[in-house]
Amino acid sequence: MIKHTIRKDGGKTVTVNLTPIKAIRHQCIECMGFQFREVAECTSQLCPLFPFRMGKAHTPGRGRKQAPEKAA
Ligand code: SF4
Repeated sequence: MIKHTIRKDGGKTVTVNLTPIKAIRHQCIECMGFQFREVAECTSQLCPLFPFRMGKAHTPGRGRKQAPEKAA
């Protein structure tokens, strides 16, 4: 974790402790005009940051139950 100064809503700055995933989260919040809720609604699925925008590493299919295999 490193300390880094970033932009904040209203043109101010703030120094935060960053990990790579937190840096992505901050970038997404800034990208959406500091509207936290808009980050979840982002539709830019081709953005490289999209899978990580909510501050967690996204693993496709994680947390979903697998469909039972059908008998052949
Ligand atoms: S994932 Fe969406 S909110 Fe995050 S940087 Fe990309 S376009 Fe912006």
